[in-house]
Amino acid sequence: MFCRDLSHNNLSGDIPDSLASMSKLLVLNLSGNHDLNGHVPDTLIKRNNSGLLLFLLDSCTTCDGPGKRNISVVIIAIIVVVAVVAVFTGLLLLWILHRRRRRRGGGSVEQHLETQVQREIKKFSHEELKGITNNFSRKIGRGGFGIVYHGYLDNQTEVAVKTCTLESTQASKQFLAEVRSLSLVHHKNLVTLVGYCKDGVNLAVVYEYLPRGSLFDHLRGKNSSFALNWRRRLNIVLDAAQALDYLHTGCGMVHRDVKSSNILLGQNFEAKVSDLGLARMFSADANSTITLSGTPGYMDPEYQLTFTLNEKSDVYSFGVILMENVTGEPPILTARESIHIIKFIKQKLATGSIDDVVDSRFEGEYDMNSVWKVMELAMICTRDESANRPTMADVVMHLKDCVQIEEHRQRGKPQPSEKSYMNMSSISTSNSMSDSFGPISR
Ligand code: ATP
Repeated sequence: MFCRDLSHNNLSGDIPDSLASMSKLLVLNLSGNHDLNGHVPDTLIKRNNSGLLLFLLDSCTTCDGPGKRNISVVIIAIIVVVAVVAVFTGLLLLWILHRRRRRRGGGSVEQHLETQVQREIKKFSHEELKGITNNFSRKIGRGGFGIVYHGYLDNQTEVAVKTCTLESTQASKQFLAEVRSLSLVHHKNLVTLVGYCKDGVNLAVVYEYLPRGSLFDHLRGKNSSFALNWRRRLNIVLDAAQALDYLHTGCGMVHRDVKSSNILLGQNFEAKVSDLGLARMFSADANSTITLSGTPGYMDPEYQLTFTLNEKSDVYSFGVILMENVTGEPPILTARESIHIIKFIKQKLATGSIDDVVDSRFEGEYDMNSVWKVMELAMICTRDESANRPTMADVVMHLKDCVQIEEHRQRGKPQPSEKSYMNMSSISTSNSMSDSFGPISR
């Protein structure tokens, strides 16, 4: 068993046949002998092909010897392997990139939403909120999302921090939707959003603080011992109506959860509407069958048929608030049996007078015409068919008349009430109030 390295030996002429007969020869290297004539004996080729001999020969112009063929095969094999590996690696990289993009795509809606929100308002960390609320020490209320805390910003501005206790994806989306809605709308009668927190599972929104609590609190809740007089109540509902009109006509939004606990009061009883958590753009909701539909007692009866809410649904809920405002009663009375406030008022008026439903805490200090006008407006707002309800712009106009009537009464001036009252029919698209109530003396 031996090797013959005859490379670069200036060999010339034929390659002898005899080399093939050397049975113990395993390697024969004739490369670098450029003067060999290039003919390779068949016997050498056979031994090489059968693996008995490694025969190396290069750059011989005429020959097609096995050495060259072997090298070519090796080179081709390497090229093929490299190409296959390259294609496979490329495909793998493409797949990884695709997966990353898809993963990024999943979160991008939320990221995009957050970026938009941060352009408008401040983002707080959970630690910052701890400082603002003195470690969440003073609770001022509890709502559907969670507890509301009192706090102070660095500049001593008072704020209400509304925390979110739900940790589901749905809650997170709803939270961001509320934040986004609020960050886009600005009106003197809408609660201002100062900032928000989205720090891991800790979600919160930071609002301006309204020191007098909600209209609900004053009508029946924790502040009800201090009765709001009729003029104040009129101004409060007028403020709230203006905010809703702005949402509807200025922003194309539906509030979706209009109720007396979502009307908050400032130091001078100026009212601001809060909790746009359920508000959505009309356009995004055109074909929606979302079942987030507000609070029992305030819900548009048409919702049960169509499963959609529109601006007239807010008008319906607002009509219920007008009734609460006049009577001081809740939307669903539970004294003897459960009865809706609309039915309660209709029953009372059918057998008695308006005095039977007016909040006794007014102690007679109200103008009957303005009370009637509000009651009539409330009835029109709560008509079963939304098409027969007024717009919030109509409501604002008529409430302004009511405020004027009450102001005249307080100043002891003659009242423009009759003219204003008669104008009510202009928004009654069907069944005038007189039809549904019967003529009752005012
Ligand atoms: P839901 O959230 O289910 O609609 P809700 O409106 O009663 O119910 P929140 O909006 O969380 O719940 O408010 C709970 C209570 O916290 C309110 O009734 C009010 O007393 C108080 N509150 C909320 N926001 C403020 C605020 N900005 N300023 C002062 N008090 C507030």
